[in-house]
This record gives sequence, C-alpha cells and structure tokens, in this order.
Amino acid sequence: MEIAGALAAVVAVGVVGLIAIRAIRKRAAGGSHRRAPDAPGDVAPRPAASAGLARSIRSLFRGGANDPWAELEDLLVRADVGPATSARIVASVRERSSNGSDPAALVAEEIRGILGDAADLHLPADGLGVVMVVGVNGAGKTTTIGKLAARLTEQGRKVSLAGSDTFRAAASEQLDAWAKRSGAHLVTQSRGSDPGSVAFDAVKAAQARGSDVLIVDTAGRMHTREPLMEELKKVRRVLEKAVGRTPDETLLVLDATTGQNGIAQARAFGEAVAVTGVALTKFDGTAKGGIVLAVRDQLGVPVKLVGTGEGVTDLEMFDPQAFAQRVIGG
Ligand code: GDP
Repeated sequence: MEIAGALAAVVAVGVVGLIAIRAIRKRAAGGSHRRAPDAPGDVAPRPAASAGLARSIRSLFRGGANDPWAELEDLLVRADVGPATSARIVASVRERSSNGSDPAALVAEEIRGILGDAADLHLPADGLGVVMVVGVNGAGKTTTIGKLAARLTEQGRKVSLAGSDTFRAAASEQLDAWAKRSGAHLVTQSRGSDPGSVAFDAVKAAQARGSDVLIVDTAGRMHTREPLMEELKKVRRVLEKAVGRTPDETLLVLDATTGQNGIAQARAFGEAVAVTGVALTKFDGTAKGGIVLAVRDQLGVPVKLVGTGEGVTDLEMFDPQAFAQRVIGG
C-alpha cells in the first residue's frame, strides 16, 4: 500500500507550509502586497522539499512501522492538526480505502474538504464596515490590526481604528504608532475608560469622517477571566447598537505557535463573541501548518488572514486550496 505517499502529504502540512511562507515573506520584503498566488508551486520549492520528505517517510515505513494508520494519526497530531481532527481524518481515509486505492489521494481529499474555499473579509460595499478584533495579549492583535489597516488603506479604503483595549497600559500608544504608519484615524480615550464608550465614539467619529472600515481593538488579558468575556460581549452589543447590525467581521487573532492551547482559547472567544474568522499570526515561526486544519475543523471558522512576520506587509489573505495543493503536491 502506498502509505508513504500519504504520510508525505501529511507531514508536508507543516514543512511545505513553512517553506511556502518563507517564500511569501521574501516577496513581501520586496514591497509586494499581492495575495498568495493560486498556482501551486509558485511560492513553494515543492518538488525538492516533497521528494526529500517522501523519501524519508518511505524509508521509515520500509524500516518497519507495523501500524501505518497509527503512524499516520501520530504524524497528524505532531503537525498540530489536533487529536480529534487527526482521528477523524484517519478514520475516514481508512474507511474509504480499499485494495488499490491511494491513501495519499484520500488524505488529500480530506484536507481539501476540511479547508474548503477561500473566505474573504465580508465588508459592505457602501457605508461603514466594522471589524471587531479579539484575542489574548501577545497573540499579535495590535500588529495585525496595523497591517490590516495598511492593507485596506492601500486598497483605497478610508480606515478608522478604535482603541477599546483601555486596560493595557501601552495599548493605545502602540495602536497610535500603527495608525500613523498606515494612515488610519485613531479614536481612543484615557486608560481605564469604558471600552464600550470608546467603541461607540469611534463608530460616530468614523461615520462623521466617512470612513469605509472601522477596526476595533479590544482587551486580551487572560481569556479564562469571566470579566473579559463580559467586556467583549458588551463592546459587541455597543457596536451592534451604534451601527444597527452585528460587526461585519469578528476576527480572532491566534498565535500559530501556541498549537492546541490556542484552539482552547479560541473556543472561549468564539462562545463570547461569535468569531467569523481567524487571523493566524506568527506562521513564520512554526513548521506546524496543521493548526490551519484544526481551526477549521474544531472551531468551524475559516482562517482568513495569515501573519508572516513583524513588518507592515507581512499579512496574507489565506488561500486554503493553494495551501492544500502545496501540502499535497509531490
Ligand atoms: P497583542 O498583545 O495581541 O496586541 O500583540 P502584539 O501585536 O503586540 O504582538 C506581540 C508580538 O508578536 C510583537 O513582538 C509582534 O511584533 C509579534 N508579531 C505579531 N504578529 C507576528 C507575525 O505574524 N510574525 C512574527 N514573527 N511576529 C509577530
């Protein structure tokens, strides 16, 4: 059975993902703001990487793995796909495999099926679009807001920012620096002010300025503390009241290097504020691309943005099928 091919595809979730991200960063460093191209192989030196990977896995199996299915599941778990999703993929592939079928192709189908189609940011064509951004401190929230503001401004949209993280001392200064860099307008109040009141003022100010998008920063102190979730729910309610509808996007910023812990955090935020998409940061700092599958499968929300560095251009719209193709190819 061609199990080595399947394993190669699976491990490539991390390895080829990382290679691809490095290539994306290189391009971003050249000043480009392009999306990840759809053409597989365009950003990933795929053949060389995959061939090496396939070879090593084949030799591993020829070396005598006596339970390839268990090995496959273990590889998925180690690539941060998560225990539940890994088990589900293996069970499904195992059930669908028959004499002569190619497990690699079956795993590929599973990966494609889980990732689904690209999910763009939903912003209204007219009037003020509202993007609420949540996540634990240190995940990369402020940086992502800054990069997103720069990206939207470059696309010709007028962007306002709301500094509703009134808890953290340096939050508004940090946001102010990003606002200046990206050409966005920042609405904030003094430390300790009511985050809901900042959000309300920011909506009114953004509407008065004729902004196209308002990005709302929120506090991210320990997610396990109930008051934070209550605060986020309140900010959401205020935004809903001020705009007349729920935020167009509620993005959860998740640090890709936190693996399954990040998934647990994400669940808590999702229950509080109905997350519509994930911005996965620090993808340049992990070889475990499997987190992308775990987010989609375990949380039921798509990864929409990927942070690939600390620079202003290090933010990509996530293209799941191109990612899957790179993972699977070879
Ligand atoms: P916040 O507390 O969630 O607002 O997090 P910050 O935006 O302050 O980011 C925390 C740290 O992570 C900073 O040093 C950022 O430069 C860094 N960071 C954010 N996004 C990325 C990324 O995509 N890649 C890398 N390498 N670092 C990042």
